[in-house]
Amino acid sequence: MSHAIAIVGLGKIARDQHLPTLAASDRLHLAGIVSGHARDEGAPVAATITELKRQVPELAAVSLCTPPMARTALIKEALALGLDVMVEKPPAASVSVAERYAGMAREAGRALYLTWHSREASGVEPAAQWLSGKTLRRVSVAWKEDVRVWHPGQEWIWEPGIGVFDPGVNALSILTRLVPGTELHGATLKYPADREAPIMADLTMAHGDTAIEAAFSFDQRGPQTWSMTLETDEGTAELREGGGRLFVDDAEVAVPEGTEYGRLYARFADMIGTGAIDADLSPFRLVADAFMLGRHERVGAFRWDD
Ligand code: NAP
Repeated sequence: MSHAIAIVGLGKIARDQHLPTLAASDRLHLAGIVSGHARDEGAPVAATITELKRQVPELAAVSLCTPPMARTALIKEALALGLDVMVEKPPAASVSVAERYAGMAREAGRALYLTWHSREASGVEPAAQWLSGKTLRRVSVAWKEDVRVWHPGQEWIWEPGIGVFDPGVNALSILTRLVPGTELHGATLKYPADREAPIMADLTMAHGDTAIEAAFSFDQRGPQTWSMTLETDEGTAELREGGGRLFVDDAEVAVPEGTEYGRLYARFADMIGTGAIDADLSPFRLVADAFMLGRHERVGAFRWDD
Protein backbone atom coordinates (compact mmCIF):
# COMPACT_ATOMS: atom_id res chain seq x y z
CA MET A 1 0.00 0.00 0.00
CA SER A 2 1.23 3.48 -0.87
CA HIS A 3 0.24 6.37 1.43
CA ALA A 4 -0.75 9.76 -0.03
CA ILE A 5 1.52 12.47 1.37
CA ALA A 6 1.88 16.19 0.70
CA ILE A 7 4.92 18.45 0.91
CA VAL A 8 4.36 21.75 2.72
CA GLY A 9 6.84 24.46 1.63
CA LEU A 10 8.50 23.90 -1.73
CA GLY A 11 11.99 25.29 -1.11
CA LYS A 12 15.57 24.02 -1.46
CA ILE A 13 15.36 20.89 0.69
CA ALA A 14 11.94 19.89 -0.66
CA ARG A 15 13.27 20.01 -4.23
CA ASP A 16 16.75 18.58 -3.47
CA GLN A 17 15.70 15.65 -1.27
CA HIS A 18 11.99 15.23 -0.47
CA LEU A 19 10.56 15.17 -3.99
CA PRO A 20 13.18 12.74 -5.41
CA THR A 21 12.86 10.47 -2.36
CA LEU A 22 9.06 10.34 -2.65
CA ALA A 23 9.34 9.72 -6.41
CA ALA A 24 11.52 6.67 -5.66
CA SER A 25 9.32 5.32 -2.85
CA ASP A 26 6.90 2.43 -3.28
CA ARG A 27 5.33 3.05 0.14
CA LEU A 28 4.53 6.78 -0.22
CA HIS A 29 3.50 8.96 -3.14
CA LEU A 30 3.34 12.71 -3.61
CA ALA A 31 -0.38 13.57 -3.54
CA GLY A 32 -0.04 17.35 -3.41
CA ILE A 33 1.98 20.41 -2.51
CA VAL A 34 1.06 23.23 -0.15
CA SER A 35 2.87 26.30 -1.34
CA GLY A 36 2.67 30.04 -1.66
CA HIS A 37 4.46 30.02 -5.05
CA ALA A 38 4.33 26.55 -6.68
CA ARG A 39 2.37 26.24 -9.93
CA ASP A 40 2.76 23.29 -12.28
CA GLU A 41 4.58 20.65 -10.29
CA GLY A 42 2.88 17.48 -11.54
CA ALA A 43 0.73 17.23 -8.39
CA PRO A 44 -2.23 19.26 -7.04
CA VAL A 45 -1.10 22.54 -5.45
CA ALA A 46 -3.03 24.43 -2.76
CA ALA A 47 -2.34 27.46 -0.60
CA THR A 48 -3.29 25.66 2.63
CA ILE A 49 -3.32 22.11 3.99
CA THR A 50 -7.10 22.38 4.49
CA GLU A 51 -7.63 23.31 0.85
CA LEU A 52 -5.39 20.48 -0.33
CA LYS A 53 -7.25 17.93 1.83
CA ARG A 54 -10.48 19.10 0.18
CA GLN A 55 -8.95 18.45 -3.25
CA VAL A 56 -7.28 15.17 -2.24
CA PRO A 57 -9.53 13.41 0.31
CA GLU A 58 -7.24 10.35 0.49
CA LEU A 59 -4.38 12.53 1.80
CA ALA A 60 -2.92 10.68 4.83
CA ALA A 61 0.08 12.76 5.85
CA VAL A 62 2.10 15.93 5.39
CA SER A 63 5.83 16.56 5.44
CA LEU A 64 6.70 20.07 6.63
CA CYS A 65 9.62 21.58 4.72
CA THR A 66 9.08 25.20 5.73
CA PRO A 67 11.63 27.07 7.88
CA PRO A 68 11.41 26.25 11.61
CA MET A 69 9.46 29.39 12.57
CA ALA A 70 5.66 29.30 12.45
CA ARG A 71 5.24 25.53 12.24
CA THR A 72 2.80 25.25 15.16
CA ALA A 73 -0.18 26.48 13.15
CA LEU A 74 0.67 24.07 10.31
CA ILE A 75 0.95 21.10 12.69
CA LYS A 76 -2.34 22.03 14.39
CA GLU A 77 -4.10 22.35 11.06
CA ALA A 78 -2.75 18.99 9.83
CA LEU A 79 -3.63 17.15 13.04
CA ALA A 80 -7.15 18.64 13.06
CA LEU A 81 -7.61 17.23 9.56
CA GLY A 82 -6.60 13.76 10.80
CA LEU A 83 -3.21 13.80 9.07
CA ASP A 84 0.05 12.29 10.28
CA VAL A 85 2.94 14.75 10.36
CA MET A 86 6.65 14.62 9.54
CA VAL A 87 8.75 17.70 10.30
CA GLU A 88 12.14 18.86 8.91
CA LYS A 89 14.86 19.67 11.40
CA PRO A 90 15.09 21.73 13.55
CA PRO A 91 11.53 21.15 14.74
CA ALA A 92 10.70 24.73 15.78
CA ALA A 93 12.24 28.09 16.55
CA SER A 94 12.51 27.33 20.28
CA VAL A 95 12.60 24.32 22.59
CA SER A 96 9.46 25.34 24.50
CA VAL A 97 7.47 25.46 21.26
CA ALA A 98 8.90 22.14 19.99
CA GLU A 99 8.07 20.49 23.33
CA ARG A 100 4.36 21.00 22.71
CA TYR A 101 4.24 19.03 19.48
CA ALA A 102 4.30 15.49 20.90
CA GLY A 103 1.36 16.31 23.22
CA MET A 104 -0.60 17.84 20.36
CA ALA A 105 -0.12 14.70 18.24
CA ARG A 106 -0.91 12.36 21.15
CA GLU A 107 -4.15 14.24 21.83
CA ALA A 108 -5.10 14.00 18.16
CA GLY A 109 -4.12 10.31 18.02
CA ARG A 110 -1.88 10.93 15.02
CA ALA A 111 1.73 10.00 14.20
CA LEU A 112 4.40 12.66 14.56
CA TYR A 113 8.01 12.38 13.40
CA LEU A 114 10.39 15.21 14.27
CA THR A 115 13.23 14.20 11.97
CA TRP A 116 17.02 14.54 12.21
CA HIS A 117 18.23 13.64 8.73
CA SER A 118 21.93 13.46 9.62
CA ARG A 119 21.23 10.69 12.12
CA GLU A 120 20.21 8.58 9.14
CA ALA A 121 23.58 9.04 7.38
CA SER A 122 24.96 5.65 6.36
CA GLY A 123 27.91 5.62 8.79
CA VAL A 124 26.04 6.55 11.97
CA GLU A 125 24.56 3.17 12.94
CA PRO A 126 27.80 1.30 12.10
CA ALA A 127 29.66 3.85 14.26
CA ALA A 128 27.21 3.26 17.12
CA GLN A 129 27.79 -0.51 16.84
CA TRP A 130 31.58 -0.07 16.73
CA LEU A 131 31.49 2.16 19.85
CA SER A 132 29.45 -0.35 21.83
CA GLY A 133 31.47 -1.76 24.76
CA LYS A 134 34.42 0.62 24.19
CA THR A 135 35.46 3.45 26.48
CA LEU A 136 35.10 6.78 24.73
CA ARG A 137 37.88 9.20 25.70
CA ARG A 138 37.41 12.23 23.47
CA VAL A 139 35.15 13.47 20.68
CA SER A 140 35.89 16.33 18.32
CA VAL A 141 33.48 17.69 15.76
CA ALA A 142 34.24 20.00 12.83
CA TRP A 143 31.11 21.09 10.94
CA LYS A 144 32.17 23.84 8.55
CA GLU A 145 30.32 24.94 5.44
CA ASP A 146 29.66 28.07 3.39
CA VAL A 147 26.18 29.48 4.01
CA ARG A 148 26.35 31.25 0.64
CA VAL A 149 26.53 27.87 -1.13
CA TRP A 150 24.05 25.86 0.92
CA HIS A 151 21.45 28.51 1.79
CA PRO A 152 21.69 31.05 -1.05
CA GLY A 153 19.74 34.17 -0.16
CA GLN A 154 17.73 32.53 2.66
CA GLU A 155 17.26 35.48 5.03
CA TRP A 156 15.36 33.34 7.58
CA ILE A 157 18.62 31.52 8.32
CA TRP A 158 19.82 34.68 10.13
CA GLU A 159 16.83 34.82 12.51
CA PRO A 160 17.82 34.74 16.22
CA GLY A 161 18.59 31.20 17.36
CA ILE A 162 19.55 29.83 13.92
CA GLY A 163 22.66 30.93 11.95
CA VAL A 164 25.43 28.33 12.09
CA PHE A 165 23.25 26.10 14.29
CA ASP A 166 21.15 25.23 11.23
CA PRO A 167 23.94 22.85 10.11
CA GLY A 168 25.42 22.58 13.63
CA VAL A 169 22.31 20.86 14.95
CA ASN A 170 22.91 18.13 12.35
CA ALA A 171 26.24 17.34 14.02
CA LEU A 172 24.54 17.46 17.42
CA SER A 173 21.87 15.03 16.20
CA ILE A 174 24.61 12.49 15.37
CA LEU A 175 26.43 13.23 18.62
CA THR A 176 23.31 12.69 20.76
CA ARG A 177 22.70 9.37 18.94
CA LEU A 178 26.26 8.19 19.61
CA VAL A 179 26.75 9.80 23.02
CA PRO A 180 23.30 10.21 24.62
CA GLY A 181 23.36 12.34 27.73
CA THR A 182 26.00 14.76 26.38
CA GLU A 183 26.08 17.95 28.45
CA LEU A 184 27.01 21.41 27.24
CA HIS A 185 29.41 23.31 29.51
CA GLY A 186 30.38 26.37 27.51
CA ALA A 187 30.30 28.06 24.12
CA THR A 188 31.72 30.98 22.17
CA LEU A 189 29.36 32.39 19.55
CA LYS A 190 30.65 34.74 16.86
CA TYR A 191 28.03 37.12 15.46
CA PRO A 192 28.47 39.15 12.27
CA ALA A 193 28.29 42.86 13.11
CA ASP A 194 24.98 43.17 11.22
CA ARG A 195 23.24 39.87 12.12
CA GLU A 196 21.32 38.45 15.08
CA ALA A 197 22.58 34.86 14.73
CA PRO A 198 26.11 33.43 14.97
CA ILE A 199 28.21 32.62 11.91
CA MET A 200 30.63 30.52 14.00
CA ALA A 201 30.39 28.63 17.28
CA ASP A 202 32.81 26.65 19.43
CA LEU A 203 31.18 24.34 21.96
CA THR A 204 32.67 22.64 25.01
CA MET A 205 30.72 19.56 26.05
CA ALA A 206 31.25 16.40 28.09
CA HIS A 207 29.79 13.05 28.95
CA GLY A 208 31.24 11.81 32.22
CA ASP A 209 35.03 11.78 31.67
CA THR A 210 34.68 12.08 27.89
CA ALA A 211 35.67 15.54 26.64
CA ILE A 212 33.65 16.67 23.63
CA GLU A 213 34.39 19.75 21.55
CA ALA A 214 32.73 21.08 18.44
CA ALA A 215 33.71 23.82 16.00
CA PHE A 216 30.95 25.07 13.69
CA SER A 217 31.40 27.56 10.86
CA PHE A 218 29.03 28.99 8.27
CA ASP A 219 31.88 30.88 6.60
CA GLN A 220 34.00 28.01 5.29
CA ARG A 221 35.56 28.73 1.90
CA GLY A 222 37.18 25.96 -0.14
CA PRO A 223 36.69 22.36 0.99
CA GLN A 224 33.68 21.87 3.23
CA THR A 225 34.04 19.72 6.36
CA TRP A 226 31.43 17.71 8.22
CA SER A 227 33.38 15.30 10.41
CA MET A 228 33.36 13.75 13.87
CA THR A 229 36.32 11.96 15.47
CA LEU A 230 35.66 9.52 18.31
CA GLU A 231 38.75 8.37 20.24
CA THR A 232 38.34 5.25 22.36
CA ASP A 233 40.57 2.94 24.38
CA GLU A 234 40.50 0.58 21.39
CA GLY A 235 41.09 2.87 18.44
CA THR A 236 39.62 5.89 16.73
CA ALA A 237 36.54 6.13 14.55
CA GLU A 238 35.96 9.04 12.21
CA LEU A 239 32.71 9.94 10.52
CA ARG A 240 33.30 12.03 7.41
CA GLU A 241 31.07 13.73 4.84
CA GLY A 242 28.25 14.35 7.30
CA GLY A 243 28.31 10.78 8.59
CA GLY A 244 28.08 9.19 5.15
CA ARG A 245 31.52 7.55 5.44
CA LEU A 246 33.10 5.78 8.43
CA PHE A 247 36.81 5.18 9.04
CA VAL A 248 38.31 3.15 11.89
CA ASP A 249 42.00 3.84 12.50
CA ASP A 250 42.09 5.47 9.05
CA ALA A 251 40.71 2.40 7.23
CA GLU A 252 37.33 2.85 5.58
CA VAL A 253 34.53 0.63 6.88
CA ALA A 254 31.72 -0.59 4.61
CA VAL A 255 28.40 1.11 5.43
CA PRO A 256 24.84 0.29 4.31
CA GLU A 257 23.54 1.49 0.95
CA GLY A 258 20.74 4.05 0.94
CA THR A 259 20.19 7.72 1.63
CA GLU A 260 19.36 9.79 4.68
CA TYR A 261 15.98 10.82 3.28
CA GLY A 262 15.23 7.30 2.03
CA ARG A 263 15.58 6.07 5.60
CA LEU A 264 13.58 8.99 7.05
CA TYR A 265 10.64 8.30 4.75
CA ALA A 266 10.85 4.53 5.28
CA ARG A 267 10.53 5.15 9.02
CA PHE A 268 7.65 7.59 8.52
CA ALA A 269 5.87 5.09 6.26
CA ASP A 270 6.05 2.61 9.17
CA MET A 271 4.56 5.23 11.51
CA ILE A 272 1.62 6.37 9.36
CA GLY A 273 -1.69 5.25 10.78
CA THR A 274 -0.15 3.93 14.02
CA GLY A 275 -0.24 7.07 16.20
CA ALA A 276 3.50 6.57 16.87
CA ILE A 277 5.46 9.58 18.08
CA ASP A 278 9.20 10.14 17.56
CA ALA A 279 10.01 13.53 18.98
CA ASP A 280 13.55 13.52 20.36
CA LEU A 281 14.61 17.06 21.22
CA SER A 282 18.05 16.27 22.67
CA PRO A 283 20.05 17.89 19.80
CA PHE A 284 17.89 21.01 20.05
CA ARG A 285 18.42 21.30 23.83
CA LEU A 286 22.18 21.49 23.27
CA VAL A 287 21.58 24.35 20.83
CA ALA A 288 19.46 26.15 23.43
CA ASP A 289 22.19 25.57 26.05
CA ALA A 290 24.80 27.05 23.70
CA PHE A 291 22.72 30.22 23.46
CA MET A 292 22.19 30.17 27.25
CA LEU A 293 25.88 29.79 28.13
CA GLY A 294 27.51 31.22 25.02
CA ARG A 295 29.90 34.15 25.26
CA HIS A 296 29.34 36.58 22.39
CA GLU A 297 31.97 37.97 20.06
CA ARG A 298 31.40 40.30 17.10
CA VAL A 299 33.05 39.67 13.73
CA GLY A 300 32.84 41.52 10.39
CA ALA A 301 29.50 42.16 8.70
CA PHE A 302 28.06 39.33 6.56
CA ARG A 303 27.53 39.68 2.82
CA TRP A 304 25.89 37.12 0.54
CA ASP A 305 28.10 38.21 -2.38
CA ASP A 306 31.44 38.23 -0.53
P1 NAP B 1 13.93 27.45 1.79
O1 NAP B 1 14.66 27.11 0.54
O2 NAP B 1 13.91 28.86 2.25
O3 NAP B 1 12.44 26.90 1.58
C1 NAP B 1 11.47 26.99 2.57
C2 NAP B 1 10.10 27.04 1.89
O4 NAP B 1 9.11 27.14 2.92
C3 NAP B 1 9.90 28.27 0.99
O5 NAP B 1 10.28 27.98 -0.33
C4 NAP B 1 8.42 28.52 1.13
O6 NAP B 1 7.77 27.61 0.25
C5 NAP B 1 8.04 28.02 2.50
N1 NAP B 1 7.91 29.08 3.53
C6 NAP B 1 6.83 29.21 4.34
N2 NAP B 1 7.02 30.23 5.19
C7 NAP B 1 8.23 30.76 4.92
C8 NAP B 1 8.97 31.84 5.45
N3 NAP B 1 8.49 32.58 6.46
N4 NAP B 1 10.20 32.12 4.91
C9 NAP B 1 10.69 31.37 3.92
N5 NAP B 1 10.01 30.32 3.36
C10 NAP B 1 8.79 30.01 3.86
O7 NAP B 1 14.47 26.57 3.02
P2 NAP B 1 15.14 25.12 2.99
O8 NAP B 1 16.62 25.25 2.82
O9 NAP B 1 14.41 24.24 2.08
O10 NAP B 1 14.93 24.72 4.53
C11 NAP B 1 13.66 24.32 5.02
C12 NAP B 1 13.89 23.43 6.25
O11 NAP B 1 14.67 22.29 5.84
C13 NAP B 1 14.69 24.11 7.36
O12 NAP B 1 14.20 23.74 8.60
C14 NAP B 1 16.12 23.60 7.15
O13 NAP B 1 16.87 23.55 8.35
C15 NAP B 1 15.83 22.19 6.63
N6 NAP B 1 16.92 21.63 5.83
C16 NAP B 1 17.53 22.39 4.84
C17 NAP B 1 18.60 21.86 4.13
C18 NAP B 1 19.31 22.62 3.03
O14 NAP B 1 20.35 22.14 2.52
N7 NAP B 1 18.86 23.79 2.58
C19 NAP B 1 19.06 20.56 4.43
C20 NAP B 1 18.39 19.82 5.40
C21 NAP B 1 17.34 20.37 6.09
P3 NAP B 1 6.49 28.00 -0.61
O15 NAP B 1 6.85 29.23 -1.37
O16 NAP B 1 6.32 26.78 -1.45
O17 NAP B 1 5.37 28.23 0.35
